[in-house]
Amino acid sequence: MAQIKLEFPDGSLREFDKQVTPLAVAGSLSNSLKKAAVAAKINGVLVDILRPINQDAKIEIIKNQDAAALEVVRNTAIFLLGVAVKQKYPAIHFGEKQANDDGFYLDTDKPESQISVDELPELQKDIAALIKANQPIERKMVAKADLQQEFQNDPYKLALVNAYDSVQIPVYQMGDYVDFGEPALLPKASDLKHYQLLSVAGAYWQGKSSNPMLQRIYGTAFANEADLQADLKRREEIKERDHRTLGRDLDLFFVDPKVGAGLAYWMPKGATIRRTLERYIIDKEVAAGYQHVYTPVLMNVNAYKTSGHWDHYRDDMFPPMDMGEGELLELRPMNCPSHIQIYKHHIRSYRELPIRIAELGMMHRYEKSGALSGLQRVREMTLNDGHTFVALDQIQDEFKKVLQLMLDVYHDFNITNYSFRLSYRDPANTEKYFDDDQMWDQSQGMLKAAMDELGLDYYEAEGEAAFYGPKLDVQTKTALGNEETLSTIQLDFMQPERFQLTYVGEDGKEHRPVMIHRGIVSTMERFIAYLIEMYKGAFPTWLAPIQVNLIPVKNEVHYEYTKKLQDDMRKQGLRVEIDDRDDKMSYKIRESQTQKIPYTVVIGDQEINNASVSVRRYGESDSTEEDISMFIDSVVADVKNYSRS
Ligand code: ATP
Ligand code: ZN
Repeated sequence: MAQIKLEFPDGSLREFDKQVTPLAVAGSLSNSLKKAAVAAKINGVLVDILRPINQDAKIEIIKNQDAAALEVVRNTAIFLLGVAVKQKYPAIHFGEKQANDDGFYLDTDKPESQISVDELPELQKDIAALIKANQPIERKMVAKADLQQEFQNDPYKLALVNAYDSVQIPVYQMGDYVDFGEPALLPKASDLKHYQLLSVAGAYWQGKSSNPMLQRIYGTAFANEADLQADLKRREEIKERDHRTLGRDLDLFFVDPKVGAGLAYWMPKGATIRRTLERYIIDKEVAAGYQHVYTPVLMNVNAYKTSGHWDHYRDDMFPPMDMGEGELLELRPMNCPSHIQIYKHHIRSYRELPIRIAELGMMHRYEKSGALSGLQRVREMTLNDGHTFVALDQIQDEFKKVLQLMLDVYHDFNITNYSFRLSYRDPANTEKYFDDDQMWDQSQGMLKAAMDELGLDYYEAEGEAAFYGPKLDVQTKTALGNEETLSTIQLDFMQPERFQLTYVGEDGKEHRPVMIHRGIVSTMERFIAYLIEMYKGAFPTWLAPIQVNLIPVKNEVHYEYTKKLQDDMRKQGLRVEIDDRDDKMSYKIRESQTQKIPYTVVIGDQEINNASVSVRRYGESDSTEEDISMFIDSVVADVKNYSRS
C-alpha cells in the first residue's frame, strides 16, 4: 500500500499507510494516547478521529483534556440531542446549531407546539439512554448533491446544505438520524459523559425577524465532571444576579417583544425605585447649580440636520414622522438640541457662565434587536442628561466639578467597581467625526490633563469618541460580563458652532461657548439594571420599593394596631406594607426575605404590650425585639444617610 509521511508537533516524521486514521496513528504511538484521542488537527484543521488521511501532512492528536476537544465534545452533545429529539418527535425539523465557548444550541421546529423547557429533563434522560446503548455513529464524506437529495423535504436543512461551498460534506448518522457539518465528533456515543441541557428560547430562523420563530435548545458539555459542575455553578450565580431574572422575580419591570421590543414597562415596585433615583439625582444636581427643565420628545427634523445627528447618527434613530406639508418630526435620540433651544431662548452674559441645564430626558434609539437586553439596552430611555455651557477657560474646572459630582453619587450608591476610559476619535477613520483636527487634538489633550491633575487612573480608547468630541466614560461590567458605559462627560466644540451659540463677554462682544454633555446616573433603565445586579436585588433601605413589611401575628387581633403603625411610619415618609394574607407566619417571613425587603416586623400581644416590634433584617436568621420609636428613628436615619443596609 502507498505510504504517506506525517509530521508530529515535535518535528519528527513517520510513515504510515495511506488512508490511515488519526485514531490508528495515536494507537501506533501509545495506548494511553489512543484512549485519550478525540480528534486530530491535520495541517491545522480539525478533523474526525476516524477520517482517513490521504496525503503527507502535519498532524496533531487532540486529547480529551485539550482546549480544542471542547468543540468536539459539544458537537457530539448536539448530535445526540438531535437523535433524541427526532426519536421523540419524528416530524420535527432542525434549524441551525452551534458549539461555542458558552456551550451549544440546536434550533428545532416542532409542528403545532414547540418543545418546552419542562421537556428538557426527559430529553436529558433520552440522551443518557443513547449513550448507554452506544450505537455506532457512522461517519462519511457525502457529495453536496446527494445531501441535497436527502434533505429535499426539509426546508431549513436544505438551505443549510445549499449554503456549503465544498463539494464533499462530513456526514454523521445514527440509525435513521442523519446530520452534517461538524468537523469531528467523539469516537463513540459513550465517550460523551458530562453534559447538561439548560434552557429553551425562541430564535428566528437565521436571525431574521421576518422568518419563522424556531425553538432553540441550549446546553453545555465538558470533558470532565469538575468543569461541568463549575460551569453550572457559574451559571447559577449569573442567574441570581441577572437583572432580567430579578426584575421578574421581584416584579420590578417587564419587556414584551409582542407589544414592543426594547420598550420597558415599570411595575409599581420598579417605578418606586426609579422615582427615588429621579428625586435623588435632581436634588443633587440642583444643589450643584443645575437648572432642571422639561423639553419635548418630538422635534423638527431640521434641528437634527443642524446638529449633525441626521448625517452621523441616523441609523440609530427612529424614522421621522411625516406630518404633511413638508413638516417632519423626529423622536429625539439625544437631548442636546433641546437644551440648546433653552440656552438660545435668552441673550446670555459671561456673568451667567457656566450655565448648567439638566433634564431627565426621554429619548428613543433604534437599537438592533439582537443588542436589546432587559433594561440594560432599550429603545426608549430616560437619560439623566445635563449640558453645561462654559467659556474656554472654564472647561478644566467644570470638568472637575462634574467628575466630583459623579464620585459623590457613586459614594452614595456604594459603587466601587468601575474604570475610567478616555475615548478618542479613531485616527484611521477621521471622516466619521466632526472635521477639525485642531479641536480634536486640543480637547483630547485637555481631558487627559484634567485626569492626570486629579491623579485618576484611566485607559485610552481610540474610536470610542462621540462624533462631535472626545469623552470620559465610566465603564462597568454587567452580570453577563459585558462592558457597558455608566456615566459619561463629553466635550463639544461643534454644536455651539452649528447652532451659532453666543454669550456677551466682558468686552461687550459676542463669544462662542463650549458645551459639556454629561450623564451621571446614565439612563434610568441602564442604571437601575446595574443597581439590581450590583445589589443582587437587595436594595439598601433608601432605595428599596418596600422598606418595612409588617406582619400581624393574628389578623383578627393585631391588624388594627398594625394598621396604625403603618400610618405613623408612612407619615414619616417610609414605604411600609402589611402582609395580612391568611398564610402561616413562617411562610410570610420567608416570602418577605425572598422579596428582599430590608425589615420584616412581626407584631403580636407581646409587642403591643411592650410598645416594641420584633424586627428581622434582610439576610439575618434571627429577629430582635426593639423599642418602636427607636426602630422607626433608625429606619428614617438609614434612608436619610443612604445607608448601605
Ligand atoms: P452605548 O455605547 O452604550 O450605545 P452611547 O455612547 O451611544 O452608548 P451616549 O449617547 O453617550 O451613549 O448616551 C448616554 C448614556 O445613555 C450612555 O452612557 C449609556 O449609559 C446610556 N445608554 C445609551 N444607549 C442606551 C440604551 N440603548 N439603553 C439604555 N441606556 C443607554
Ligand atoms: Zn448631549
